[in-house]
Amino acid sequence: MKTNSSEAVDSSMNWRDLNWKEELKNNITSVEQLKDFISLTPEEESDLQKIIGNHPMNIPRYYLSLVDTDNPADPVRRLCVPDVEELVLAGAMGETTGDPYGDDKHDKGNGILHKYPYTALVVGTEYCAMYCRHCFRKRMVGLPNNQTVKNFQEASHYFRAHHELTNVLISGGDPFMLPTPTIKAMLDELKDMDHLNYVRIGTRAPVVYPIRFFDDELIEVLQDFNRVKPLYIPTHFNHPNEITPVAADAILRLREAGITVNNQAVFLRGVNDDVETLTELMNGLLRIGVNPYYLYQCMPVSRVRHHFQVPLKEGVDIVDEARKQLDGYGKRFKFIIGHDIGKIEICGRIGDKLIMKQLHARPEHPEESSRMLVRQLTENAGWLDDLPEVEL
Ligand code: SF4
Repeated sequence: MKTNSSEAVDSSMNWRDLNWKEELKNNITSVEQLKDFISLTPEEESDLQKIIGNHPMNIPRYYLSLVDTDNPADPVRRLCVPDVEELVLAGAMGETTGDPYGDDKHDKGNGILHKYPYTALVVGTEYCAMYCRHCFRKRMVGLPNNQTVKNFQEASHYFRAHHELTNVLISGGDPFMLPTPTIKAMLDELKDMDHLNYVRIGTRAPVVYPIRFFDDELIEVLQDFNRVKPLYIPTHFNHPNEITPVAADAILRLREAGITVNNQAVFLRGVNDDVETLTELMNGLLRIGVNPYYLYQCMPVSRVRHHFQVPLKEGVDIVDEARKQLDGYGKRFKFIIGHDIGKIEICGRIGDKLIMKQLHARPEHPEESSRMLVRQLTENAGWLDDLPEVEL
């Protein structure tokens, strides 16, 4: 039943007992509803209307309960509440694009992106429990698009025919917003493909909507699949305040089903761009049994880059300082540029030279894999393309 959003988002709510589908109906999706929680000036109200006309707002009550609504700079608020800065298409950090990770170039139709020889991704849905304000797929999440899978059975023919694949990633949007029988049907198609070593389901639901994982039927489906083929769940915690007892319980349920959960955070201005927060984030993840895996440099996405991207010169020092505080498991994460040409690890800097290593290359440029890259750091450069080439 839909609840008036102004009813308590109180800390005593038992999120674990809610029906996950019903509770989604209580998400905050309009400026009117938001005003029940956050005070807005008439000007802010009108700006927010403009923003959500382009990029919809969708905030679960659970996630809103983590926000300090009196603090406009609250890091968790930055991740879910639209900001007037989103009206800036590009801005101080430089040019932007709708497709920084080269999804369109590797689109095989029917929701399939085949960007590396060994990995294929399938966009399971464009819906997410929350629309994160920093999302790099902002041009499609929550919006009509032609990049979501229409027929998973047909998509599975592609995976079956491509023996070079070692893994398939079901992504989105958030695949865990699909009904459990649909997730089961997808996994059933992949179960008997001998060339796949493992399957991944990419999700932010453990962070923004852990309620989903208290559905016993879902856990059973995941556990059954994991008995046949390893299932990995990449998730996306960005701030220690997101690591709540409810999120920890959701993760525990996945771990009890034998599933490995890896974290892919994004490095974001005003959210986790300081040593203490990053250190707490990585330690907090380890405490709940999630492996720190990637920390992504924020991509040059339209309406995101200007207010979320941290210059690399500043960022590399923050990340290195945090690593110094972390034990071996804490510092296992890689600081990554997810670029149009592939995945590039930022190793560190020597003076003003940024040292990187390309981890994955596109199928048409296999020679680029494992190469070292050296670039000149400048004060404001936030992306590989902004960094002039230089000799070591
Ligand atoms: S859950 Fe993931 S795909 Fe959905 S809006 Fe957030 S970052 Fe984007």
